[in-house]
Amino acid sequence: MYLQNLHTHTVFGDGKDTVEGMVQGALRSGCVSLGFSEHSHLPAAADPDGYTMRPEETPVYRDEVLQMQEKYAGKLEIFLGLEQDIDSILPQNSYDYLIGSVHGVWKDGIYLPVDESRDVFAGVTEEHYNGDFLAFAQDYYRREAEVCGRTKCQIAGHFDLVTKFNEGGCFFDESDARYRNAALEALEVLLQQDLIFEVNTGAMSRGYRTVPYPAPMFLKFICEKNGRICITSDSHSADTIIHAFDQARELARSCGFRETAVLTKTGFQMQAL
Ligand SMILES: [Zn+2]
Ligand SMILES: [Zn+2]
Repeated sequence: MYLQNLHTHTVFGDGKDTVEGMVQGALRSGCVSLGFSEHSHLPAAADPDGYTMRPEETPVYRDEVLQMQEKYAGKLEIFLGLEQDIDSILPQNSYDYLIGSVHGVWKDGIYLPVDESRDVFAGVTEEHYNGDFLAFAQDYYRREAEVCGRTKCQIAGHFDLVTKFNEGGCFFDESDARYRNAALEALEVLLQQDLIFEVNTGAMSRGYRTVPYPAPMFLKFICEKNGRICITSDSHSADTIIHAFDQARELARSCGFRETAVLTKTGFQMQAL
């Protein structure tokens, strides 16, 4: 398997390690390639805790990744990317790739994060949706359908992030037609835009889930429609850069995939899974 991770966070965002620390972690893990995808800046209303890059940090992040690209040339292929939030303004500089992500929805003029914590997820659903988790999920997927149009991304980040705290169906039933139809409608739109979908193990390394995003029913649908995937760790520390990649690969294969997209100097290419 061609070991590459394109979803990587650092101390510029909510990661624990520096850019170089992540490079060294990737080398220790046997990666041939690493892409950085720090969080694009969000306004305070959508990021009260400041987990995204401040505008003045963004050029410093870019410089640091580009310096590492030079320093580790021949040892590790490094790409400069960004996790472009649907609520961020488009970047002014060019990046090798963008991961487009939805981390929350706006309701009643208030930002409701889907991935902050179990208690916040339950609380905002109670307060703003009268406890109707499926209605919250429907709003999430309406936004997810717009992620490529709004962010101009090449990769769709954690497609079903709204299930982060729902393992075992503890909040809502993922087989419910309201849920499935909302998600499948979004998938149809994104598949028409020829996006690459992440098989993302991030919530596994952080102990929230035992399986990657997205759910098998969506992976099978993507495969049937000849969509592309890539395996990523959404890593926030140097020791999780290829976390559960074997499991993600097995899952993708069980859903019908035989190839994964990898980024090269000449663009995305398909490699055997
Ligand atoms: Zn994300
Ligand atoms: Zn991320």
